[in-house]
Amino acid sequence: MDISSAERLSASAESRQWTPSISVVVPAYNEEEVLPEFYRRTSTVLRALGVPYEIVFVNDGSNDSTLVVMTGLRQQDPNVTVVDLSRNFGKEIALTAGLDQCCGDVVVIIDADLQDPPEMIPEFIEGWREGFDVVYAVRTEREGETWLKKLTAHTFYRLMQAISRVKIPKDTGDFRLMTQRSIQALGGLREHHRFMKGLFAWVGFRSKPVYYKRDPRAAGQTKWNYWKLWNLAVEGFTSFTIAPLKIATYFGLGIAMLALVYALVVIYKTLAYGDPVRGYPSLMVVVLFLGGIQLLFTGILGEYLGRVFNEVKQRPLYILDTVFPSSLLENKSNRNPADNS
Ligand code: UDP
Ligand code: MG
Repeated sequence: MDISSAERLSASAESRQWTPSISVVVPAYNEEEVLPEFYRRTSTVLRALGVPYEIVFVNDGSNDSTLVVMTGLRQQDPNVTVVDLSRNFGKEIALTAGLDQCCGDVVVIIDADLQDPPEMIPEFIEGWREGFDVVYAVRTEREGETWLKKLTAHTFYRLMQAISRVKIPKDTGDFRLMTQRSIQALGGLREHHRFMKGLFAWVGFRSKPVYYKRDPRAAGQTKWNYWKLWNLAVEGFTSFTIAPLKIATYFGLGIAMLALVYALVVIYKTLAYGDPVRGYPSLMVVVLFLGGIQLLFTGILGEYLGRVFNEVKQRPLYILDTVFPSSLLENKSNRNPADNS
């Protein structure tokens, strides 16, 4: 860290002696089993902090009784906001819907399945007091996950780091604290292909890692499988780098140059030694190899083009069904925007 950024950090640390209000944003899809326990642990932590807070539950079109559980919690606790989406939009978009609604000075993003311990929130707040805008949790251990998942995740982070200009911290999920201004910046990114790890990194701001051990799921089923993880990896690459497209350019250039040299050799041989017809196997190899390469790069082009297609339609990211606001949210929206300091 250079001197000026250290100075800026301590300057903003000095200005952070006040009590922030906290929004905890929780996307949830079919989490009826774990929500009551999640609510109990999280509100215990938040109450102990003694600050104004809200828990923003986003129901991402669950087809179990998740919404019933959420509205039940809302009835007994005015610190709960329930955002109900019109159908399942996927975690990234559900999260975005929650972030669009939340109003806390600092915002904590957390999964409903208790893989991210809410007990870390005080440590996040400490980081915020030190002057950081983003405090993100880094997993040191992954319990209950296979070696194959660990290996693929490891490879993905390394590749992403090597290939992309945006530096994505490794072993980092969505679990983090962000200030309202960095949430606003994130809210400005309305792309449909939401590779959140990348978007967080793109927004920037002074960030600090804190380390934790990721627990296995408390209850319910993970919605991930290898096909989804592969697609997430493709999403990551296509959202943040056009390197695969460039590979095609240079690969093509290389082959064209080699072909030119080979053509000269063939011409020379024909002129010097005559032309006995030979080479069916080598021809087959070249045709199949180049055919395969061409199809591959057409496919890569298609991956990008398909994403362009999805983005240019400019559909809204999600459709809200109902919002049951917390008292924190109600107070903020009743307040005159002019005295919103
Ligand atoms: N989730 C969601 N919509 C979906 C899938 C998941 O809101 O379509 C939520 C889910 O309820 C959980 C979080 O996203 O709170 C993480 O999901 P999951 O535990 O399945 O992912 P993993 O922890 O295995 O990465
Ligand atoms: Mg999980």
